[in-house]
Formats: sequence, structure tokens, C-alpha cells
Amino acid sequence: MSTNEQREFIPERDHGYGNSPKAFGEPVVVSDGPPQGCPNCGCKKVFQISVAVEAPPQLRVPEGFEAFCVYVGCPACPWASPAINSSRPKTTE
Ligand SMILES: [Zn+2]
Repeated sequence: MSTNEQREFIPERDHGYGNSPKAFGEPVVVSDGPPQGCPNCGCKKVFQISVAVEAPPQLRVPEGFEAFCVYVGCPACPWASPAINSSRPKTTE
């Protein structure tokens, strides 16, 4: 489906995949990322980030839980690692 032409300009992060689940809510920095830094731009500081996502079809989300993913992201360029999807109890705000 995607062509090289579409890949030349990256309008948003894809969490390491071409069709990642749609993220919503506020991305939260969980911790520092690996010390190797960013493999794309060489930025030395990357972060492990958690964000709520729409549940991907392969993930069963129990009642009262929400899907989220964790990935490593670079603050200086669009690079992001593949995301690990999981679910957690919904927080009520
Ligand atoms: Zn980078």
C-alpha cells in the first residue's frame, strides 16, 4: 500500500510501524531510553514513552482496561522504536 514516495516525508511518528494503533491522550516519559541514543540522527538522549492507543485487533483488552503502548522516541527527529502494546486499568480523571 505505501510507496517510497509516501515515505519521503514523515508527517507523524508511526511508532516504528507503518500502521500503528492510533494514539490519543498525552504521551508520558517513563524513563530514559537506551544509552546508545538515536540510530537515526545520533541524538544522545532518547526516552522511553508510554501513550494510550486504540486497541489493536490482536490485543484483547479486559473490561475497565485501556490499551497503551511503550516505545523509545527521539526528541530531535521523527525516529521511534517499534512499540510494545499492552493494557492497563483505566484511570478515571
Ligand atoms: Zn533522532
